Amino acid sequence: MKIKNLRMFHLSVPLKKPFKTALRAVDSAEDTVVIIEGEKGLLGFGEAPPTAVITGDINPGIRGIIREKIAPKLIGEEIENLEKLLHIVDRAAVGNSSAKAAVDIALYDLFAHRYNIPLFRLLGGNGSQIMTDLTVSVNKADEMAEDAVKAVKEGYKTLKIKVGKGRDKDLERVKAVREAVGPDIAIRLDANQGWEAKEAVGLIKEMEELGLNLELVEQPVPAGDLEGLKFVTENVMTKIMADESLFSPANAFLLLKMKACDLLNIKLMKSGGIYNANQINSTAEAWGVECMVGSMLESKISVTAAAHLGAAHKNITRFDLDAPSLLAEDPVQGGIEIDGPIIRLPEKPGLGIDDIAGLKEV
Ligand code: MG
Repeated sequence: MKIKNLRMFHLSVPLKKPFKTALRAVDSAEDTVVIIEGEKGLLGFGEAPPTAVITGDINPGIRGIIREKIAPKLIGEEIENLEKLLHIVDRAAVGNSSAKAAVDIALYDLFAHRYNIPLFRLLGGNGSQIMTDLTVSVNKADEMAEDAVKAVKEGYKTLKIKVGKGRDKDLERVKAVREAVGPDIAIRLDANQGWEAKEAVGLIKEMEELGLNLELVEQPVPAGDLEGLKFVTENVMTKIMADESLFSPANAFLLLKMKACDLLNIKLMKSGGIYNANQINSTAEAWGVECMVGSMLESKISVTAAAHLGAAHKNITRFDLDAPSLLAEDPVQGGIEIDGPIIRLPEKPGLGIDDIAGLKEV
């Protein structure tokens, strides 16, 4: 089946409340949607959010690289040659991981439609249901405690607390959240590169001594400071997860070889899509290291792709796929079914997306 066309659209979705991390604050998701058209009306959907502070991507860059360097190489090709096409996407340009992810996801979706099979089954089919955490944005301690209690009432058993904005305040934030939610809720922290290595060790040790019982700490130090990440990993008991330090399979190999972290956070927008994400997970599995699958601030299109990936593989044991729950509207019909923390995968071909409202062609 030939690829007939690749079209791009703008999708704008407001958030329920501003999303705040150590790196940024945003109040809406403004994403690029890719639709690849096959024959007989079959479509493949993909999506990329512009996350300049993490991936360096902005919408005009995502759209420009797809229009000039990726789409011309795919149109007229046969979707049955999936790996060849994924390789073309991966080699089309240096960097540009979000643009590549949007196209990679749309290719996988179209391929799965071609064979009339749900994507998670195509990828291995380990399960059809996963449990996500919910993110609590970094704010004043009492506001974070309130947000955490609200999430627990909605059924979330794991919370991801954003920190990394001032050492004393971070300790206060985590203490407030732990006191508010009690001992039975798992708390993972994400410092988004907001600490220095020694500061991180001091702070995490203090939290350990206070019995705050952290499941893991994500990206305590700047992305490029792999030695610092290793120093933190070696000097605390709490598990340390690499996020912004990990983009490619080669990054994963180096982090694992250095023993710089205990866990990896795969995001399709960093890896450039499912093809590379699979390689990262397999590499980690071979080293005995588990992965989480996370997302940027995305709509249900690419989060559905991440959920299919996560549901397919047993080595992906943690899920941070709450982005659709942070949106004030859901323009995507079909895809994952979200019931609080429970995400169910549809028994429909590909991603299972039926339609997307409010798209503007670009
Ligand atoms: Mg993170």
